[in-house]
Amino acid sequence: MSKRRALLLVTPASAGLLFFSLAGCKANPVYTAASTAGIPNESSAASAVTGDDAPPPEKTGGFDGKRAFAHVAKQVSFGPRPSGSPAIVQLQSYIQSELASYGCKVDTDAFTADTPVGRLPMKNIVAKIPGDKPGIIMLATHYDTKLLPNFVGADDAGSSTGVMLELAHLLCQKHGAYQVWITFFDGEEAMKEWSDTDSRYGSRQMAAKMAMSGELPKVKAFLLADIVGTRTPHFKRESDSTKWLVDLVWSVAKNLGYGNIFLGEATQISDDHDPFLKRHVPAADVIDLQNWPGGDVFYWHTPEDTLDKISAKSLAITGHVFLERRGR
Ligand SMILES: [Zn+2]
Repeated sequence: MSKRRALLLVTPASAGLLFFSLAGCKANPVYTAASTAGIPNESSAASAVTGDDAPPPEKTGGFDGKRAFAHVAKQVSFGPRPSGSPAIVQLQSYIQSELASYGCKVDTDAFTADTPVGRLPMKNIVAKIPGDKPGIIMLATHYDTKLLPNFVGADDAGSSTGVMLELAHLLCQKHGAYQVWITFFDGEEAMKEWSDTDSRYGSRQMAAKMAMSGELPKVKAFLLADIVGTRTPHFKRESDSTKWLVDLVWSVAKNLGYGNIFLGEATQISDDHDPFLKRHVPAADVIDLQNWPGGDVFYWHTPEDTLDKISAKSLAITGHVFLERRGR
């Protein structure tokens, strides 16, 4: 309780949102000496987050890490889920049926994307939760997996998709100050090499569509999660993200006791928040892309990204941060 009260004092008026953490997957991973900067925090972070068991939901704002983990296991059971594959169609059905079972109002946008491997069907899925005030808070992830042999993407993007499903489970029963749109993007991964035209198909589609419809200026904050399931999570401040929003999310995390996971140092990562940033929407990305040998996500974009790499506790921490609503 005291943490919540303290948080109210430091939360800017712009908050009133939902916060969550996301870990992204992406391009331009920064392989620099700075990567070792996370090591001094390793022991404390590991002791805080290692372990298969999620904390009781009452310890994480009602977010159930075990449920989120079960969603990751379900996704992995479908096998590799690249855009346009039969398996991703199974996952789309799963996401939509889960959201419907929670009472969410669900909108979908099926579109086609021209990619280096041909024209592919894609689909964005959005759970829309009503609010009292004008304004939309977007919580987002991608759900497609990278087109690679034997790549089942438990962490990328199973983890953040599991977190978003559990958030929808909690939030679709509620009525917020602002609308909350829990968004599942298709086509984040490049079919071949990451570029502005080969990657982020779903988020580019949605940002453009919302600009056309006039909805984009209503988005007060866009919070992206991607790669949030590792057993030793460390989230650095993504340097392209909107500073006040990063400050806010990191402040929430620190006040919840996750200051050893949401680190002060910066890194630059291209991800699904970019199309919204480019259109002047405040946006932030919560992502662990320490993908070098010995790093948190050493298994990034390899067949080693499997369910055994995922911690229900890490999912719960991310969910807890995302759930924090203030200014209500
Ligand atoms: Zn990826």
